[in-house]
Amino acid sequence: MPRKKSEAGNPLKGRNPRVSKGVKAENIPADKIEEQPQCHIHDKVEDDQVENIRENVCVKEFDYPLIKHTDGKQYCLFHLPTKEKDIEKFEKFFKTRLNSVKEGIAKIKELPKEECEEAKRLLSYDFRYVWFPSVNLMLYEFQVTANFGSATFSSIAFFMSATFSAYTDFSLARFLSLANFRAATFSSDADFTAQHFPLIVISARQHFRLALILVRQHFRLMPILIRQHFCLMLISVLQDFFLSLISVLQHFRLTLFL
Ligand SMILES: [Zn+2]
Repeated sequence: MPRKKSEAGNPLKGRNPRVSKGVKAENIPADKIEEQPQCHIHDKVEDDQVENIRENVCVKEFDYPLIKHTDGKQYCLFHLPTKEKDIEKFEKFFKTRLNSVKEGIAKIKELPKEECEEAKRLLSYDFRYVWFPSVNLMLYEFQVTANFGSATFSSIAFFMSATFSAYTDFSLARFLSLANFRAATFSSDADFTAQHFPLIVISARQHFRLALILVRQHFRLMPILIRQHFCLMLISVLQDFFLSLISVLQHFRLTLFL
């Protein structure tokens, strides 16, 4: 299904008219409505997803103010489409988000099995349209749905040995650099339908092959290097020995002649 341009569908996207209680917005002249800017998210986000993403994914304005991007639109720290952002804070909010899901899982584990499974379905790692400067989730265990749909990974994305136990969505995700899913385990369905999918596979394979080649070369070179090192040591020891011997002999000769 083709994606709609949000602006075309909803000219007020990114704006939240602030009106007093009991006063209908349509009764207020347009120029009197106080507009509160909200995260633009992405040019291609579908209108029916906007509010849900703002509620569940965006960094809240009281945690970090919206940032005006060079395209003139305002974004939260998660959706700001550039590496030129407060990466330290981004990492902090990202970790907090991961931890809050983990805590939620820990809480529901006490429930009876059926209730626990039901509650698990309501929890998810929701990172739709997030613009990651880099991500390292090596060995991470995703025990509930992980949604990275339409996310952008601008730098290396490490998911090595990660475990995805529930439904995983990487649909339309963009991997602008290497994506490493080596030894990752997907025990439920995973959606990787994206234009960049072949690149992920190629990158992962290339990475794996290069690693393998390097290891092989290292092992091949090791005995040669050890032999060379041993020979050099032997030469050095022998040289030292002969030099000492010559020195001792000379000393004796000199002593005899004196
Ligand atoms: Zn946002």
